[in-house]
Amino acid sequence: MNKFSDFNLSNQILKAIEKLNYENPTSVQDQVIPVILEKMDIIVKSQTGSGKTAAFAIPICEMIDWDENKPQALVIEPTRELAIQVKEEFFNLGRFKRLKVPAVYGKTPIQPQEQELKQKSHVVVGTPGRLIDHLEHGTLDTLKISYLVIDEADEMLNMGFIDDIETIISYLPADRVTILLSATMPKDIESLCNEYMIDPIHLVIEDEEPATIRISQEKYEVEVKEKLNLLRDITIIENPDSCIIFCNTKNKVDEIHLFLLSLKYSCQKIHGGMQQRDRLRIMDNFKHGYFRYLIATDVASRGIDIDNISLIINFDIPRESASYVHRIGRTGRKGKAGKAISLVSQFEIQLMNDIEAYLEKTIDLKTWPDQNTVKQFKEKFDEKINTRPERKETKGASLNEGIIKLHINAGKKTKMRPADIVGTLCNIEGMTFEDIGIINVQDISTFVEILNNKGELVYQELQKRNIKGRPRKVSKVIF
Ligand code: AMP
Repeated sequence: MNKFSDFNLSNQILKAIEKLNYENPTSVQDQVIPVILEKMDIIVKSQTGSGKTAAFAIPICEMIDWDENKPQALVIEPTRELAIQVKEEFFNLGRFKRLKVPAVYGKTPIQPQEQELKQKSHVVVGTPGRLIDHLEHGTLDTLKISYLVIDEADEMLNMGFIDDIETIISYLPADRVTILLSATMPKDIESLCNEYMIDPIHLVIEDEEPATIRISQEKYEVEVKEKLNLLRDITIIENPDSCIIFCNTKNKVDEIHLFLLSLKYSCQKIHGGMQQRDRLRIMDNFKHGYFRYLIATDVASRGIDIDNISLIINFDIPRESASYVHRIGRTGRKGKAGKAISLVSQFEIQLMNDIEAYLEKTIDLKTWPDQNTVKQFKEKFDEKINTRPERKETKGASLNEGIIKLHINAGKKTKMRPADIVGTLCNIEGMTFEDIGIINVQDISTFVEILNNKGELVYQELQKRNIKGRPRKVSKVIF
């Protein structure tokens, strides 16, 4: 096995990898990183949770030319949640190289995205529909795109995005590296590859230990009208630190959310009928451990990476067997143990049989614990429900060490440009270009990151110095 240092990566990237605590490359990284560094097209058949994002993000971050202002890499993701997650991975890995990584997705105003794309951007991550909007409006410049990543290709196919992907490709330079990742390889994906890739390398990454084996799985057969009571008893006995309850419809999510609230559970819900802003906020709060129970439809099942979810409950059995695997894959991440429990009504027995056939595995059938047993667990459960869940650290938080973000009270409206900021900062004794992180000029504000523990010095100096001929109000921003 390789080490990250064997890949000939720059110190900036290696430092970010180290800060993220990625000790050794995963199997997919081991095989994919060298191929992309050689600028060859590649098709990767691999599951999520294998470290596949970093497998393409590391070499792309390595090869981005910081000086180029136009985007050099385009990453297409099927959902907004994934787009944001992948943007974060790029941002974290490119942190010390100061890479700018806008994410563009629908159901949010397009104008701030357009503003962001007008500034220096290195990697753009987006969902198909919104990417096409930007391409049609001319707000996404593709002239310098040298890397295209089509992530979760089979999911894009399921969601009907294949034509959109072809449209996006039609805007891109032919001279580029194309990277496609998919958990399965249906015919339509193969033809896409044949059409748009040049002599691609094919890689099939076997899971070291597939999630379906690592995760202990149980099922209960229960009448529909008894499901809520069984859910209550199971949560008391399992008493998870962190749990997702999956349902098939938003109405069911709403119903269970109300039920658990009435029992005073620390819970929130997420489904496709909610505002994007709320969805993102709730996912973020769940990632940080602000509450224990998330009740969700499948919007939260695919690819979403949250550490340490101890229990998954399928309140409804998914109609597609593949969804079952995505759902339970939210637990037992990164080799950890996890548990998944399915509540099977009389109408869902066939669906469960199909899932077992798909998994080639029989799932243990459990019987409803008697009320005495439940009672024994209740005290411990009440204790936990009355304590605040443990906070989880933001991934990449350690990358912020030594970095201070400053807010300057001037922006585009007063003709502030990144060059003005760089000029002022480099005039401060002890500051070099290398100490300046990402600069984001907005209408009436500018944000600039100061690296290498020099933030305090700069903050103090800017209280006395002019920027672009005038004193400006400068304050520190909390990350
Ligand atoms: P992915 O398959 O891209 O969804 O990644 C799954 C998780 O593994 C993410 O939380 C990554 O941050 C994490 N990860 C990626 N590469 C490594 C590595 N080499 N060592 C440890 N964790 C990793």
